[in-house]
Amino acid sequence: MQHTHSEASPRPGRSPRPARRTRKRKVPLCPYCHESDEVIPILYGFPSDAAFMRAERGEVYLGGYEVTPYSHYCKRDDREF
Ligand SMILES: [Zn+2]
Repeated sequence: MQHTHSEASPRPGRSPRPARRTRKRKVPLCPYCHESDEVIPILYGFPSDAAFMRAERGEVYLGGYEVTPYSHYCKRDDREF
């Protein structure tokens, strides 16, 4: 008696989790105005072209090479936090 047990091959290219399209910007509340609508992430290092474009649109704040403990920037208060 023998049962041929064929190995279940892993299905290629099918991941169970659905691709999430909605990119929600998750930013913390500004400690000064307690809002998050003007808060943008600080980008350190040399920015890519895309990062430059985003900075132009006010979507990111270019922090430059010197990394500070701050990770976000509030446009309303003009402060990093
Ligand atoms: Zn603020």
